[in-house]
Amino acid sequence: MQIADYQVERVSLPDEDPDWQIAGHRIPTNDGCIFTLIAEDGTRGEGYAAAFAHLGTTQDDTFEALRLAGELIIGRQAFAIEAAMAAVNAALPGANPARAAVDCALHDLKARAMNVPLYELLGGKSRERVEVMRILALKAPDAMAERAARLAGEGYRALKVKLAGAVHEDVARVRAVREAVGADVRLSADANMAFDVADATDFAARVDELGVTMIEQPVPSDALGALREVWRSAIPLEADEAAASPRAVLSLAAHRSVDGINLKLARSGGILATLGMARMCEAGGLAYRMGANVGSQLLVAHALHVAVSLPLIDLPCELAEFVRLEGDPYRGIEIVDGAIAPPEGIGTGIERIRHAGR
Ligand SMILES: [Mg+2]
Repeated sequence: MQIADYQVERVSLPDEDPDWQIAGHRIPTNDGCIFTLIAEDGTRGEGYAAAFAHLGTTQDDTFEALRLAGELIIGRQAFAIEAAMAAVNAALPGANPARAAVDCALHDLKARAMNVPLYELLGGKSRERVEVMRILALKAPDAMAERAARLAGEGYRALKVKLAGAVHEDVARVRAVREAVGADVRLSADANMAFDVADATDFAARVDELGVTMIEQPVPSDALGALREVWRSAIPLEADEAAASPRAVLSLAAHRSVDGINLKLARSGGILATLGMARMCEAGGLAYRMGANVGSQLLVAHALHVAVSLPLIDLPCELAEFVRLEGDPYRGIEIVDGAIAPPEGIGTGIERIRHAGR
């Protein structure tokens, strides 16, 4: 069966919190593109390209990249995902969110054509559901504590504290959140590269007593030596921005600079690339999990099917941030007691409820 046609749509999902921010980026609206492949028998497959500055792209560039990719794979065999992605990867080497959307659409289409849920294409289920971690946007300590208490009250048992890169304030953020949620909620901290080695090490020493279970990307992504120096601190370390390619993950695993890797479909370039990174982590003895795949439920659904399939995902995954975005054209993922399971049905299993409008 051949790919007969494709569609690209722009979508913009405003955050319910217009001041949502991390160190270095304010993100009031999550822009993206929906990429749809249509096979000759009418079967459709859909993928989502998250497109904003922190991922190194814009919505317009991603839209154009998806049009190029669509032209490239029309007429190809719909089930030959590896071959299609080899062509797309060669043509669009830097456009990782767009490549991810193409890869996800190919997987969704194949699963629908074979009448199975997507996870069946990915090795089948390793678990029924995935615990989620919610993210606390960067704010004053009191505001973050208030938000944390509300989320804990909604049943979430894992929270991530965003940091500014100022040790004293950041310790106050973690302390305020810990006091608000009590001892039973798992806390991690993410500096989004805002620390240097000395401050990251100082921060780690000061929050150890507050029960922080993981520190994410404290120092810049291009400084593997710095990451390794921070790795000597007491708290487990996760690479996020530094895990931007299979080559980068190979280096992190080979040089033992971190304890784990944060996997994101948009950043890695799709499901095939993400699975490859996970296998490298397994070979190198690193933990891995699905990190913040922020955007439409369409993106979350693909990440969720990967998360229930991969064997070693024991840490909470950041797959519930879609609840704070308005105007999502998809529905079907439900959060129950701080965890999510893939919806019943073929492909991603989620439902399109409106057109993106453009
Ligand atoms: Mg991060």
